Amino acid sequence: ARHWHLARRPAGLPVPTDFSLREMSLPPLSPGQVELELHWLSVDPYMRTRMQPEGYGYLAKWRPGTPLSAWGLGRILRSRGRWREGDWVVGHLPVADRARVTCPKPQALLPLCLPGETPSPERWLHARGMTGFTAWLGMCHYGRPRSGETLLVSAAAGAVGSLAVQFAQREGARVIASAGSGAKRDWLKQALGVKTVLDDRDTNGFADALAAAAPEGLDLDFENLGGAVFEAAIEGLRPGGRVVLCGLVSQYHDPEPRRAPPNLTRLPAIGARLMPFVVPGHETEHWARFQAGMAELDPLAPLDIVDGLDAWPQAFCGLFTGKGIGKRVVRVEGL
Ligand code: NDP
Repeated sequence: ARHWHLARRPAGLPVPTDFSLREMSLPPLSPGQVELELHWLSVDPYMRTRMQPEGYGYLAKWRPGTPLSAWGLGRILRSRGRWREGDWVVGHLPVADRARVTCPKPQALLPLCLPGETPSPERWLHARGMTGFTAWLGMCHYGRPRSGETLLVSAAAGAVGSLAVQFAQREGARVIASAGSGAKRDWLKQALGVKTVLDDRDTNGFADALAAAAPEGLDLDFENLGGAVFEAAIEGLRPGGRVVLCGLVSQYHDPEPRRAPPNLTRLPAIGARLMPFVVPGHETEHWARFQAGMAELDPLAPLDIVDGLDAWPQAFCGLFTGKGIGKRVVRVEGL
């Protein structure tokens, strides 16, 4: 089996040489274990936070030499667990072509076993999977935009952002979206019909552009980026406004991750509500409601496919330089 490992902690933006692909022989299965063939792997910004020596919270840190894991879709080749050969599973799996994993407890909602289904990555790694769940939790459960409200979604052509935009549009809210490239901004206008689209990589000009786009202020900020964009959104919030703090991707390379926006004190001063959230822990309570909601919403959810396990480092590093639209996934080998 071939399995990607962290070779060294990235200094700032990750580069492909921060990772190493190792050949590993898989030991015989123990009771309760299955051997998987990985088909699709999700590539996500939070993985960068696991490469930091400290900070950012809830997931164990990866040291140099640690094998990597990610959301993925795989098929069971051999089983000494409760799942059967040929079944598909989705869950937190090794970044590898083959792997041995332990079946979860029967009551665990995720990872899911999908008996008899040939699962689509669109469904299980994007709109109906963890990415869609993130956008749905953030926008529909926490943000709850109402008709006539004005809101900002940053990194809006990305996986979570593009779904969050569509959920807010459906409620009749006025969405201001932002993205870092002309191609992404064009896509937001043409494919999603967003009327006001800003450049969130223009950190000097962003605050003025936002103020001009929302002269009456923002009711809601769906924050994906952090840094200057978050600061501008805080400045632009109306009294009683809301912030859904989904992520801070522009800060994930920062050696001082605990730095807060300098104007954070404006939030209590205007009676704003800050709603940070993280997906793990919400599954049991909200997963079924999310699945039902998504069947009705049926959003546009493009995949940005990178081919081959060998290309995993390029796929991951490219997340932060932002070329692809929608959800980036790696197709491990030709399906
Ligand atoms: P995306 O598909 O949005 O990819 C990341 C995008 O962010 C890039 O394409 C790029 O867009 C932008 N970006 C990356 N690095 C920088 C940078 N240094 N400066 C400015 N822009 C940058 O990823 P996701 O949709 O998967 O994630 C979006 C956010 O949601 C992240 O903050 C992530 O951590 C968070 N998240 C939170 C979860 C939770 O449980 N709360 C779960 C999953 C995700 P562009 O080209 O437009 O600049």
